[in-house]
Amino acid sequence: MFADVIIDQDAKALDKVFEYIIPENIDITIGMRVYVPFSTRILQGFVVNIKDNCNYDNSKVKKIISKVEDFSAIKPEMLKLMQFMANKYHLKLASILRLFLPSEMREGKVKELFENYYYLNKNIDFKINKNAIKQQQLLDYLSEKEKEKSSVLADLFGYSALKSLFEKKYILKEQQKIKRTPFYLSTNTKKVQLNYGQQNALNSIKENRTYLLHGVTGSGKTEVYMNLIENVLKAGKNAIMLVPEISLTPQIMSNFKGRFGELVAVLHSGLSSGEKFDEWKRLFSGEARIAIGARSAIFAPLDNLGIIIVDEEHEQSYISESNPRYDTHDVAEFRAKENNCPLVLGSATPSIDSYEKAKQGTYKLIEMPIRANGKELPKIQIVDMMNEIRMGNSGIFSNQLLAELINVINNKKQAMIFINRRGFSSFMRCRDCGYIAKCSDCDVSLVYHREDNRLKCHYCGKQFKVLDKCPKCGSDKIKYGAVGTEQVVHKLKELFPLVKILRMDNDTTMTKNSHQKILNEFKNSLPAILVGTQMIAKGHDFENVVLVGIVDADQSLYHADYRSTERTFQLITQVAGRAGRSENEGKVILQTYSPKHYVYKFASNYDYKGFFRKEENIRETAQFPPFTKILRILFSDFDENYVRDLLKICYTEIEKLKTKYSDDIIYFDAMKSPIKKIMDKYRYQIMLRYKLKNADNIEKEIFEIVDKTASKSSVFFEVNPQNLS
Ligand code: ADP
Ligand code: ZN
Ligand code: ZN
Repeated sequence: MFADVIIDQDAKALDKVFEYIIPENIDITIGMRVYVPFSTRILQGFVVNIKDNCNYDNSKVKKIISKVEDFSAIKPEMLKLMQFMANKYHLKLASILRLFLPSEMREGKVKELFENYYYLNKNIDFKINKNAIKQQQLLDYLSEKEKEKSSVLADLFGYSALKSLFEKKYILKEQQKIKRTPFYLSTNTKKVQLNYGQQNALNSIKENRTYLLHGVTGSGKTEVYMNLIENVLKAGKNAIMLVPEISLTPQIMSNFKGRFGELVAVLHSGLSSGEKFDEWKRLFSGEARIAIGARSAIFAPLDNLGIIIVDEEHEQSYISESNPRYDTHDVAEFRAKENNCPLVLGSATPSIDSYEKAKQGTYKLIEMPIRANGKELPKIQIVDMMNEIRMGNSGIFSNQLLAELINVINNKKQAMIFINRRGFSSFMRCRDCGYIAKCSDCDVSLVYHREDNRLKCHYCGKQFKVLDKCPKCGSDKIKYGAVGTEQVVHKLKELFPLVKILRMDNDTTMTKNSHQKILNEFKNSLPAILVGTQMIAKGHDFENVVLVGIVDADQSLYHADYRSTERTFQLITQVAGRAGRSENEGKVILQTYSPKHYVYKFASNYDYKGFFRKEENIRETAQFPPFTKILRILFSDFDENYVRDLLKICYTEIEKLKTKYSDDIIYFDAMKSPIKKIMDKYRYQIMLRYKLKNADNIEKEIFEIVDKTASKSSVFFEVNPQNLS
């Protein structure tokens, strides 16, 4: 017998199937990982097919050496998924397969963990010296408890007592596998009576198709998800639920653990490698039947899926922006189809793409327009910051926001202040000559972090000394850029020295559990103000939050990105949704320099449909997605001449397509990327915009052209890129 093997290496030349002989004495199944000889080396590979005949020269074909482990780590469904992703995104096969396994398993660093347990030897009579008190105590302890961990016994009675009892064979040892399951308190969640909207949603979701669940913030979508999952389990099937990384709060985990206990496994980047490995194994073995996690949990090793849920489906984080680049929506749709089960996309602010699909009937729309607590959504008040300046207030906070903050403090309640920029101020610039401090490896301006008195690059993390003088002209007139979270906290502490003020952003949540600590501290402090980036925008359900302040709403608005208005709408709605979630009424103050922009009119009225119609119209007229597609081909390398040459060759070839598809291609150009260099790699790009009709053919031809000319490792394809930096 022969096996088709994909070598687990990241080289373009190896990106194909290699054939090997399966030795008689090794039992190989499809999906198994194996060791194979490859030129002079021994490499790991994945068996993707088993067959009777071999196409390769029979005198040259080599033998598989051995298995990596005794089971097929890649299930048949995942092999199909690999093919699907390779075709759709033009990715290397090995890079796709790697997504399906915890990286710890591939690198062989993490093994199953065992711990020694001791128990009494019942076949021996004990003779303990009277002075050996610890030994006697240990025996007494074990006679009451059937067995105990060696670490516990050593702690209680000392290592020498343990050792001598073991040497006398009074106690015996056994090894037991330890599960490193991430710990979450399980809250005793009593089942709530579903309201009409929830019941309707639950009843509607039955078929093997995609549903778009459009429910306002606080409408109780989580409860719908839990009921759906419960039904799926009852039917003997399994479930995947995705949430954005930042909504993986202890709160939501506790609720799920409370309802489903050990059947839940969680997968996200905050876990230790051991925890990730063990959670993956619990899913693989069928011990856990619900996978909850961020983007990568869509690859959970569960078969027999009864439902896939993608919460906050509009979230950018569902699209992988680093290699391998893929869109979770596509993968979820593929797996739902393979498993014949419903896919539920939930959001208070669906992406324009998804809502358009619902409008066209591709997705089925389900609406939950009312909050579960029966309360109105918090009122959003727009404050014109130009007007504040005219009135002599050039500070961070408008007078309205200050007044409301004082109100919150006096009533011993809580406020959240949202500012989507971390650090103290966005850049440092010389007032005299205009010099801006930039990262040496990336073409971006450095952000001032006051806390550690450093300039930091938000792309590569490099740190630099703060400038007291301009390095170019020597002037000491340094100007600071736009306000960030640190500065907001700094100002609030000045204004309200006695109030608990907390900050949550990438800088304060770097260590494990810091996220949770900040949220707990906030929860238990009255009054309190939580300042944060979009980390505070999602999922949180704090009953005492009565005020939300959006310091600089325009921040996401003026990006050179067709989705920036959509993002602004989503952010405002999500952040505003944090207020007034219990008996307390909520209020939102939104500060802007462009109060007339249509996005604010619609957002402040929670008019999603109005916003959608306007946005749809603009995109259709201007021929932007979802009515067309954008393809970015990004070339990047340390050698600038090399990338530029590559770009030129590809450009000339692709230009020929422009004539062939003259009706379809709307835009075609080559240029430096907006950020010319990241981590010392130069970046050039070709951008295309084309109609949907021939999109598949155009993409296929472009993939072929680029494949011929470039080595894939320095070229990335992105369809409708999220981020044009
Ligand atoms: P969403 O995810 O739609 O923003 P949540 O699922 O967080 O909303 O629910 C908002 C709040 O409403 C939660 O505190 C939840 O416990 C509560 N809730 C959900 N369903 C009901 C119900 N049927 N009756 C009463 N309260 C509910
Ligand atoms: Zn200067
Ligand atoms: Zn940098």
